[in-house]
Amino acid sequence: MLYVSTRNANEKVTASQAVLKGLAGEGGLFVPEKIPSLDVAVETLKDMTYQEVAYEVMKLFLTDYTEEELKKCIENAYDSKFDTNEIAPLVKAQDVSYLELFHGATIAFKDMALSILPHLLITAARKNHVTNDIVILTATSGDTGKAALAGFAGVEGTRIIVFYPKDGVSPIQQKQMVTQKGDNTFVVGINGNFDQAQTGVKQMFSDPALAKEMAAAGYQFSSANSINIGRLVPQIVYYVYAYAKMVKSGEIKDKEQMNVVVPTGNFGNILAAFYAKNMGLPIGKLICASNENKVLYDFFATGTYDKNREFILTSSPSMDILISSNLERLIYRIAGNSADRNRELMKSLQEHGRYTITEEMRAQLADFYGNYASEEETAAVIREIYEETGYIMDTHTAVAAAVYKKYQKETGDSTKAVIASTASPYKFTRSVMTAINHKYDSRPDFELVDELEKLSKVKVPQAIEDIRTAPILHKTICEVGEMEQVVKEFLGM
Ligand SMILES: *Cc1c(COP(=O)(O)O)cnc(C)c1O
Repeated sequence: MLYVSTRNANEKVTASQAVLKGLAGEGGLFVPEKIPSLDVAVETLKDMTYQEVAYEVMKLFLTDYTEEELKKCIENAYDSKFDTNEIAPLVKAQDVSYLELFHGATIAFKDMALSILPHLLITAARKNHVTNDIVILTATSGDTGKAALAGFAGVEGTRIIVFYPKDGVSPIQQKQMVTQKGDNTFVVGINGNFDQAQTGVKQMFSDPALAKEMAAAGYQFSSANSINIGRLVPQIVYYVYAYAKMVKSGEIKDKEQMNVVVPTGNFGNILAAFYAKNMGLPIGKLICASNENKVLYDFFATGTYDKNREFILTSSPSMDILISSNLERLIYRIAGNSADRNRELMKSLQEHGRYTITEEMRAQLADFYGNYASEEETAAVIREIYEETGYIMDTHTAVAAAVYKKYQKETGDSTKAVIASTASPYKFTRSVMTAINHKYDSRPDFELVDELEKLSKVKVPQAIEDIRTAPILHKTICEVGEMEQVVKEFLGM
């Protein structure tokens, strides 16, 4: 199977090359030429471990990895870094099943992909006879940075450098990053905002003179952001796993449909569900949940994607996004897999901040349902579900839960549903606790952590325990204009 660029039909690469490159030329994304069909029956899948399901799914996409290579990557990724053997357990509350994707090292769903990406990348480098060390450069607004650091820490042949806006991440997120261990890790705060960090990183990526200097010193850049297919493919796995476990527990019968609800930002997680459906998994509706940055809701409602609007800071910051990069893969597909038509639309997005799809393209979006939740609705659903069931969810998952309630009310659809639960409530303790009761408003962070443990009866995760006392290992702060120099110093150039 080959991967083709969404912006150039002539750019085709193998899976391992796509993983290694991350982004295609001219800003395009790599997509599989054809979505493969699941070739194992649910009857068989339902008794498999997470790792076994992962192999059955990933082998269909990453066809130039050998069985041994792929199994090794999976083994190294989904191990005791996760606090449960199930890796992604299903928990039922009210009439819905929550697929908990936050049992990895950094307690957010980014771990599902970022714990395997480093292994896929290193294997890809070997297969393609790359001898340079791979330098991962990342700008982060919070979650991705820590998950990428945890994934790459200690992985031989790699270095990882993370830039974050010094005053633009939560105290827990900052503490998680600056306490990161591992000689190959480097965390830098910048005196600037996330956009400036992102722009600085992009400039380094596309600077041919810097690439040349790097190569001479034995390095090359790569990217760990969510448009890499090495992140997308591992995310398909847990939808297949969830379906099989729903059948195993008797929640649904084999071949019965299951709806999925996904709290969405960059559109990677829900696109993985769409790919799973296209593999033949009986998924019904793909319910796309947004917070007040409801650019996707408006897109599904009108056929126009328009990022010209105010950027709103919400209590679900990982979904505060106005350009959902992975949506391009869906646009390409509903444009009849036409790189030319997709390129035109993306050009319009770049130049005017908006584009409109045709009626014919819209007709192909019938499986998607979009809606959004306000800040009040998000807090209310956390409180309601806690009071009714004792289950406590994080703010991102709550956006999905609130949207699902709207969907049910609007449609009366009684198909069983799985909600992707994307973060531990411990990662957003303050918002979660104040949603439950305003009396928590003025209490210090770690006191709230202990209160959350009492209310939820879920043990404080190791990731949180670790940062209570961990020493700060990364103290570098730089100006936006100094980013390149800081990178060179870290690499000893
Ligand atoms: C990244 C993230 C999301 C959004 O996922 P996308 O794949 O970008 O749509 C939702 N919730 C949490 C907690 C996240 O970290």
